[in-house]
Amino acid sequence: MRLFVTLAISLPLGAQIDSASRDLSHDILQQLIEINTTNSSGDNTAAANAMAKRLLDAGFALSDVTVLIPPERKTKGNMVARFRSPGSTLQPILLLGHLDVVEALASDWTTNPFKLIEKDGYYYGRGTQDMKSQDAMLVTTFIRLKREHFTPSRDLILALTSDEEIGPANGVDWLLKSHRDLIDAEFALNADAGGVMTEKGKPLDVEVAAAEKIYADFELTVTNPGGHSSLPTPENAIYRLAAALGRIERSPFPFELNAVTRAYFAQLSTHESAQNAHDMQAILATPPDAAAIVRLSNDPHYNSLMRTTCVATRVNAGHANNALPQTARAIVNCRILPGHSPEQIRQELIRILGDPKVAIRYTNDAGQVFERAPGTSGPPPSIPGPEILKPLERIADAMWPGAPVVVNMETGASDSKYTIAAGIPTYGIGELAIDHDDIRAHGKDERVRVSSFYEGVDFMYRYLKSLAGR
Ligand SMILES: [Zn+2]
Repeated sequence: MRLFVTLAISLPLGAQIDSASRDLSHDILQQLIEINTTNSSGDNTAAANAMAKRLLDAGFALSDVTVLIPPERKTKGNMVARFRSPGSTLQPILLLGHLDVVEALASDWTTNPFKLIEKDGYYYGRGTQDMKSQDAMLVTTFIRLKREHFTPSRDLILALTSDEEIGPANGVDWLLKSHRDLIDAEFALNADAGGVMTEKGKPLDVEVAAAEKIYADFELTVTNPGGHSSLPTPENAIYRLAAALGRIERSPFPFELNAVTRAYFAQLSTHESAQNAHDMQAILATPPDAAAIVRLSNDPHYNSLMRTTCVATRVNAGHANNALPQTARAIVNCRILPGHSPEQIRQELIRILGDPKVAIRYTNDAGQVFERAPGTSGPPPSIPGPEILKPLERIADAMWPGAPVVVNMETGASDSKYTIAAGIPTYGIGELAIDHDDIRAHGKDERVRVSSFYEGVDFMYRYLKSLAGR
């Protein structure tokens, strides 16, 4: 019986937007999809300029809309627009989205990835999930609010940026370093995280990303004089490296929860299977139940929420089939719990290996290698305050009834890592509904349900209006 009740009240109400806003959001999405913004051949500046033009046409002042281009990177432009709140003494809210997309090989796709195609109730195109739909939601909302002569309670800053996916000119990082005054805020909302999880269109939960793991790559290197392979010696670079990797495999990092993952498991335990629900309650107890930790660790997602993980992702060794290896090298990729620094994890890896002949160095996003890793760890995560959550819960309840708002930690990383590190608390609120088994971000035939897109447009409008209403 309860099942029927749940189903009946869980049907999405659908978007309630006027046809002008619907057309506007469609046109913005189409324009963004059809401007290629890949790192290899795309032009982020063209997309930034196109969005700037739309905002200027809608009445934003020339001085409040800027396209900022890093020196020597003329295709890596970023757009920053400010929706002013005259006289407000409150600190601004920063809204973040990236304009760049992952490469898309047209020959792999059923449709042209750089055309917005409507088919079978979906919009297809590179960026429909990650994250040109969310960009369109944000730009449409700015234009709608401007046309309505809305005055926010504090400045709203929209930053649409470059190189989130890959590339040498990460817009958020660069803006923070070169134009901090333009994007400084009390807190940031990143539409690249969070989301509405659905099953065949039925909403399961509305997610808010309140924390993020830190990404760090370490290079393990063993060097050796080598020699002729007909005369093996006891000391072999490949065997030594393999033994080191084996020790990492067998040494999981310790179990640790924070405010966000505690809240997440507590919430999840109310609608999980009996065993999982029991185990989630048991890991929240003091002391946590060791057997429950082991059982939940078998699930890769739960495991990654409960500890820092480090895993070998690449190996490269030797120089000839008939020679003893002179060098063996591996990359170990770590996803570090907030509150710990990459250098702390490097020291822990040194301890786990217990082998001074294996050098462990830090390698950054640009592939540069350093003897030591960054020592900063960022603040411990916190649950977003009621001013952020309350309007979200109210609107989510109206739009996706029956689907609870769930605060969680992203196990991957987004541009939030830069704003969080810069002291701007950042929460993921890209509430675009995607089926949990239809996640196609970075993949082929990326698509979003047509109805989900317009729900997202409606959500962003209602949410920003409520968040920054007077
Ligand atoms: Zn993204």
